[in-house]
Amino acid sequence: MSNGKEPDYEVIVIGAGVAGIYQIKRLVDLGIEATVLEAGSDLGGTWYWNRYPGCRFDSESYTYGYSFSKELLEQWHWKERYSSQPENLRYLNFVTDLFDLRRHMQFDCKVEAAHFDESRDIWRLRASDGRVMTCRFLVGALGLLSAATLPRYEGMGRFRGRSFHTYHWPQEGIDLKGKKVAIIGTGATAIQIIPEIAPEAAELTIFQRRPNWAAPLNNRTISEEEMGEIRARYDEIFATCARTPGGFEHEPDRRGFWEVSREERLALWDRLYAEPGFGIWLANFREIFTDEDANAELSEYIAERIRQRVKDPAVAEKLIPKDHGFGVQRVPLETHYYEAYNRDNVHLVDIGETPIERVTETGLRTSERDHEFDVIIYATGFDALSGAFDRIDIRGVGGEALREKWRDSVSTYLGMMVHGFPNFFMPSGPQSGSASTNYPRGIEIGVNWCTALLEYLWEHGYPRAEPTREAEERWTAHVKKMYSTMLMRKAKSWFTGYNSNVEGHEQGKIRYLVYNGGTPKFVKTITAVAENGYEGLQLGLPPTEPDEALPEAGAA
Ligand SMILES: Cc1cc2nc3c(=O)[nH]c(=O)nc-3n(C[C@H](O)[C@H](O)[C@H](O)COP(=O)(O)OP(=O)(O)OC[C@H]3O[C@@H](n4cnc5c(N)ncnc54)[C@H](O)[C@@H]3O)c2cc1C
Repeated sequence: MSNGKEPDYEVIVIGAGVAGIYQIKRLVDLGIEATVLEAGSDLGGTWYWNRYPGCRFDSESYTYGYSFSKELLEQWHWKERYSSQPENLRYLNFVTDLFDLRRHMQFDCKVEAAHFDESRDIWRLRASDGRVMTCRFLVGALGLLSAATLPRYEGMGRFRGRSFHTYHWPQEGIDLKGKKVAIIGTGATAIQIIPEIAPEAAELTIFQRRPNWAAPLNNRTISEEEMGEIRARYDEIFATCARTPGGFEHEPDRRGFWEVSREERLALWDRLYAEPGFGIWLANFREIFTDEDANAELSEYIAERIRQRVKDPAVAEKLIPKDHGFGVQRVPLETHYYEAYNRDNVHLVDIGETPIERVTETGLRTSERDHEFDVIIYATGFDALSGAFDRIDIRGVGGEALREKWRDSVSTYLGMMVHGFPNFFMPSGPQSGSASTNYPRGIEIGVNWCTALLEYLWEHGYPRAEPTREAEERWTAHVKKMYSTMLMRKAKSWFTGYNSNVEGHEQGKIRYLVYNGGTPKFVKTITAVAENGYEGLQLGLPPTEPDEALPEAGAA
């Protein structure tokens, strides 16, 4: 609600997830008049919305938590190595209350439009309930996996049972005991849910279009004593995260893939497969990301593991991806996922072979037959990275719409700013250092950079900052170039912007959404930009366009 003066706030932050919470903390510490607008009824972002059974970190909990406050690090006890959604939400609430940030947040406030008023250098926002607010600087902490996408089946509205996307899992919970349940999709979310609900449901039918590779999470609890050891090591832990490409504790094996014997490779993989977390992906040989033959050998190793764990060989084969190699997409981590398929009440339907034709009043119709269900769960993922931005009518200089600018492919400066959209910041935007890493590590880096830039603007009295067209083109070309050596460029995944449920994001149109240079390189680049007086940014008012050439005196 407008408080009678303009702008209402110096800074408005959209989104109260990991990024928005840290951003408001930094602004409050600086004494800036700022607020957070959040579509949900409470804070937490990812960990507020996704309440499905089995939802948890695949980052080590103690590398995921914020690193900025010793007080917080001292006080919080992570109970599990890979903490679950309820605990993660408790953590974010704990942080918010510890620093008394809740009073700077407004909930049930979905921003529908944000327009830049060039005459006054302010952003004017409109929320879905009609509220209008203005600010000088706008921070989009919208989340990269926060725009849930449903498939486009006919008849979806006519199903008489319950159906929902996993992002909108009923907050009050849902009892699946004795129910006939369908789950559509076998991505990271489904891989977490399936083993949790398989023992509960009477029948669980999984509709799979294309399998994903997955590897064991190997989770366990963290005792008081272990937590004490972790606390004592926090400096070292975060220093390691800062040094590794992915912002994790897992460091790549620096030996050459082809320089060691096959026995040595197998020994490494046996060890990593039994170890917790992303080791099998990130502590592996670096060639698995770039060398087809190295990747094929590792993929066959993982395939063999799947064959050992799934009793029915035909089902096992269906669960082994044939269209991409292991690790060229973010690898889902699982707990007894493959064993779920050994249960009599679990059925796998390959919708590559027998496509879903429509949703009926009682279930799903494939090209083969009708299936009856009480509950349909859509585990169909997200319009990743740019989707939440596209869902707001963001307009910059000259009324240019961001979603139009990004229609074919995203372009940014450092993944944090966009030419034509002055005073608009994305601490963990597409093409920033966050998307391919341990997010909170990237988020802290992004928030710190954006906050330092804001301080610089305030200190020097600059009313606005905007990247130049050239700087944006250079960064976008750099991001694109890095895809050329990576096997992931060929995968149908959110790294390449593929999502058949979003118009224009079909296969064959790569969207360069992810910075693949790794954390240390990203930090080096953005630090140098700041040290050089924010090179690439137009600070202050834009140069006035030269007057149109006047006809020479005397010209007819
Ligand atoms: C199931 C799941 C598991 C994950 N596990 C991990 C993990 O183990 N490790 C890891 O590094 N990352 C993980 N991620 C990625 C995760 O999204 C990030 O770790 C992190 O939570 C992102 O924080 P964020 O603040 O950037 O975005 P989010 O947490 O997505 O928060 C964004 C917020 O913005 C709000 N918002 C968006 N649009 C609007 C609007 N128009 N108006 C108002 N509010 C709006 C949303 O409601 C949301 O609350 C996981 C993601 C999912 C979905």
